[in-house]
Amino acid sequence: MVTSDPNSSQSVEQLDLRYVYRTGRKPPLRPSIRTWHWGVIALIIAGVVIWLAREPIASIGILAPKLPEQSVLLRQLDTVLETEQTQITAAQQSANTPIAALENTLEVSATTPDHRPPGSRLVSPTLPLDELVRELGLDMDLAYQLVISIPPVTSSPTRLTQREEHVPALSNRASAEPVLNKTETTTEKKTEKIGWRQATIEDGDTLTAIFKRLGINPTTAIQLSHLPNGPLLNQLRPGPHLEVLFRGKILEALRYQHNQLRFVEVKRTGNTYVVQPIERQFDIVERKIEGTILSSLYSDGLQAGLDETVLYKLTRIFRWQIDFTRDLQKGDRFAVIVNEQHLDGQKVSNGPIQAAAFNVKGKPYQALLHVGPSGVGRYYTPSGESLESVFLRSPLRFSRVTSHFSNNRYHPVLKKWRAHKGVDYGAPRGEPVMATAAGKVVQMGTKGAYGRLVTLQHGKTYQTVYAHLSRVAKGLRKSTSVKQGQVIGFVGSSGLATGPHLHYEFRVNGQHRNPLTVKLPRSSSIARKEKNAFSHKAKLWTARLETLSTKSVQ
Ligand SMILES: [Zn+2]
Repeated sequence: MVTSDPNSSQSVEQLDLRYVYRTGRKPPLRPSIRTWHWGVIALIIAGVVIWLAREPIASIGILAPKLPEQSVLLRQLDTVLETEQTQITAAQQSANTPIAALENTLEVSATTPDHRPPGSRLVSPTLPLDELVRELGLDMDLAYQLVISIPPVTSSPTRLTQREEHVPALSNRASAEPVLNKTETTTEKKTEKIGWRQATIEDGDTLTAIFKRLGINPTTAIQLSHLPNGPLLNQLRPGPHLEVLFRGKILEALRYQHNQLRFVEVKRTGNTYVVQPIERQFDIVERKIEGTILSSLYSDGLQAGLDETVLYKLTRIFRWQIDFTRDLQKGDRFAVIVNEQHLDGQKVSNGPIQAAAFNVKGKPYQALLHVGPSGVGRYYTPSGESLESVFLRSPLRFSRVTSHFSNNRYHPVLKKWRAHKGVDYGAPRGEPVMATAAGKVVQMGTKGAYGRLVTLQHGKTYQTVYAHLSRVAKGLRKSTSVKQGQVIGFVGSSGLATGPHLHYEFRVNGQHRNPLTVKLPRSSSIARKEKNAFSHKAKLWTARLETLSTKSVQ
């Protein structure tokens, strides 16, 4: 409802405030007239103003300024068109506009032409977007970008002039934000919105269902599915990954974020559509992070700028060389080069560690990533040897040796001197026990002093034994194949044991060997064919890591 009170047509007044702000003009102040006539007039004016304010494309053609203002307006229009062109170019250069960045920007009013000011050029707002664009002599792509990129406030100043001519009263409201009041609600009914709308994809949603919800002709979804690339829209992943531009029942355009690096774009061309996947690429940003151990790798790593996932990867890379729970000392140093993956200037992921180095008690370790022909990346020393050993040093993530391998030791339970043919690791009950190498279960069950045990066979030569387990991992059977690092059981104190610990044995051709000192076989080094390429790359990376060994400890 509209009354003669000027406060009730706030939105109109605010729109004018924007104009006043832009041109620096003072509005004419008028007293309020308390007759119902004014109300009707205000309503009509509000309709005209909102129509003008919401239609950037059509308004480009509306030019009816007074002569003294004309040159100023033309200059302003040029600036606006220039800005728009910049936005368009930016948007076209990359298909990188993320869905979230697209805003609802264009509304075309369906107000009847009767309210339009004289001298304006009318382009029917009921025309489909492409015809409207043709009418205005614009490029179709450009038009889509205009729809995407022009915020309503930045568009043509000529429109604002029109507004001034027709609106008599202005309030002193400072905010340019439109406030929904009754006047606006009334006008809203006459306004047909065509803006990008975000549609949330529910679990198991189809395009047909979504179109139905939005009031778009659902047969369009079927039409799309038969087009080239159409099947890309068949399985939609749930979430806010869909943006739709439509007019009434007609779909004008659609953007679906297929995954982080791929959009599927649909555009209407006449009676049909074009479905196009738009691929994006990560920007790779190389970053080198160095640090010195003062308290622990964890805290000093975070301090230096490594995040937890990189720290974890780092310990995995060197797990065959360095025991991170015991070996590091104050003053030891590390350096990591990561290839961060960025999108739109934002870090999306850390990417792989490209190269890393440690200096532990004066001993240098280096690891360089090399991606083999199979596409699998592995780490090698600068001379091309694999960092990976066939065997892990320890079957526990965090280990503490409580009893060493010896040919003669005093047994705490038996109270006798006898050989200890393995290593005891103290660990809390239930701690997972890992297979130190890929192999096959050859023995499983309970065996006297060993308690519950698992024996693995690795190739023909090697055997490992894991004893005193509280239980064996689920699904493990005799002759099951296991991978390196796979959990095969849990620490316990079954058999002859004073407390929970793991008894670990390492046998080479049936002979017991000290697991801590035995020379462990390495995984294969870089293939001969790739050796040259790798050596070249390795030189560059080692140079980048070099500072580590020459820099003095602070
Ligand atoms: Zn033992």
